[in-house]
Amino acid sequence: VSLRFNLVHVYLCFTFFNALLIMYQRVPNLIGGAFIESRSSEYIDVINPATQEVVSQLPLTTNEEFKAAVSAAKQAFPSWRNTPITTRQRVMLKLQELIRGDIDKLAMNITTEQGKTLKDAQGDVFRGLEVVEHSCGMATLQMGEYVPNVSNGIDTYSLREPLGVCAGICPFNFPAMIPLWMFPVAVTCGNTFVLKPSEKDPGASIMLAELAMEAGLPDGVLNIVHGTHDTVNAICDDDNIRAISFVGSNVAGMHIYARASAKGKRVQSNMGAKNHGIVLPDANMDATLNALAAAGFGAAGQRCMALSTVVFVGDSKSWEDKLVERAKALKVNAGTEADADLGPVISKQAKERICRLIQSGIESGARLLLDGRNIVVPGYEHGNFIGPTILTDVTADMECYKEEIFGPVLLCMQADSLEEAIKIVNKNQYGNGAAIFTSSGTAARKFQTEIEAGQVGINVPIPVPLPFFSFTGSKASFAGDLNFYGKAGVNFYTQIKTVTQQWRDLPGGSGVSLAMPTSQ
Ligand code: NAD
Repeated sequence: VSLRFNLVHVYLCFTFFNALLIMYQRVPNLIGGAFIESRSSEYIDVINPATQEVVSQLPLTTNEEFKAAVSAAKQAFPSWRNTPITTRQRVMLKLQELIRGDIDKLAMNITTEQGKTLKDAQGDVFRGLEVVEHSCGMATLQMGEYVPNVSNGIDTYSLREPLGVCAGICPFNFPAMIPLWMFPVAVTCGNTFVLKPSEKDPGASIMLAELAMEAGLPDGVLNIVHGTHDTVNAICDDDNIRAISFVGSNVAGMHIYARASAKGKRVQSNMGAKNHGIVLPDANMDATLNALAAAGFGAAGQRCMALSTVVFVGDSKSWEDKLVERAKALKVNAGTEADADLGPVISKQAKERICRLIQSGIESGARLLLDGRNIVVPGYEHGNFIGPTILTDVTADMECYKEEIFGPVLLCMQADSLEEAIKIVNKNQYGNGAAIFTSSGTAARKFQTEIEAGQVGINVPIPVPLPFFSFTGSKASFAGDLNFYGKAGVNFYTQIKTVTQQWRDLPGGSGVSLAMPTSQ
């Protein structure tokens, strides 16, 4: 009897432990202040790109759960919008403190799910943290305008009011920074929010939401739903959602822009890129080569502001060999290893796609100066690693040039003059960022004026503006008209109400004038 009891006991413990494990591994939604496991029967695996281990399982949220999240956001809106702005700011003050305390934990989660190095993952959190810090000054940012006495005894003033329920749809490459571009600005303006993290690395969003709740964000103000296309389409179609922030690829971004605007929603859509660096022979050679290697291969080239194409002008072409040496010296390893300069790319499919684009470049006449395709990382043989790769003699008609590669691949082109280099960049469909390396102020000024890109770097390879400016991609890299964060971000999440008031001793009598009122 005792043996049977023990076996039953062991079995029950085992089952309970397994149930706990399954619960722990399943990424919860956040609905109305509660982290709830989805009832969906469909889950997809979140995979560590360095090891292929399953980190957790992500639900394809059911339509009922999605509706419940939107409804929670809608219910929370009236009291949150009426909560004093000073109180809303204080939640952000607390949140920035909590995020700062948890940077290492967040970074470890990002490295595990996304693959970037721990140092780079800390930067991912830090660049988002800066948006939270900026949101602490929302009372000033959201201020309206006032003109007294626009007519005799009449004043006009404008208010920036929140929209209601807003939503955010995120990419995989910055699991902390991009959710933090979105919800802190939106909720501090008085909106409520439904966030859909990337299905590839949802962990940081959940951790940030836990911190936001701990910081005092009331239930329902921030909600999280997981999923892929169906959840995105539900966000586009839902009449209760007033605005959508999207960051990701052009295919998804243009689909969301079209579908959601057709429903009358505001959309800001940050999309793909092909960022060029023009190198003039008068640039500081060492600093420039270091910048090119860092911006081309950092985060395994999976940054929307990665510098993926170099245009060498004139004699600077001879620097290519030195660029190859610098790239060769970079260490490819799992992001958790202390010596890693770059980690794996996000998935097996991404690796295959990147290798295919490299091969297509070679087949259409580009020369391979450095080939990272066959790299094997000891201890991480199953990881999606690609080493730094450099192709030269690339021309604008090649597929590897026209497509965003989004991997550790640097394309080299050549131009005889600055004018020719600017023409190459301007012909490209994308307009996220472009940089020039030079010691000539005249050349830099010409570049700044003539270049058709939203974010311009002068001896700065990845010119991502801090939150008091905005992230200003243009051309095919952006759809919408109000950019992320900064003043434009506040304008995106608010609408203007203009009030005209008259306080004076109003004239009596029965004279009615039907003429259009004018102020004279
Ligand atoms: P992605 O477009 O594949 O996914 C982004 C989001 O859209 C995800 O949440 C995904 O679930 C959803 N989605 C994907 N395809 C969809 C479809 N057909 N219909 C509806 N929803 C869809 O992008 P990604 O691979 O996660 O991220 C990489 C891309 O993001 C790159 O193109 C990169 O340049 C871009 N990016 C741009 C910026 C920027 O600010 N411009 C910043 C970061 C990343």
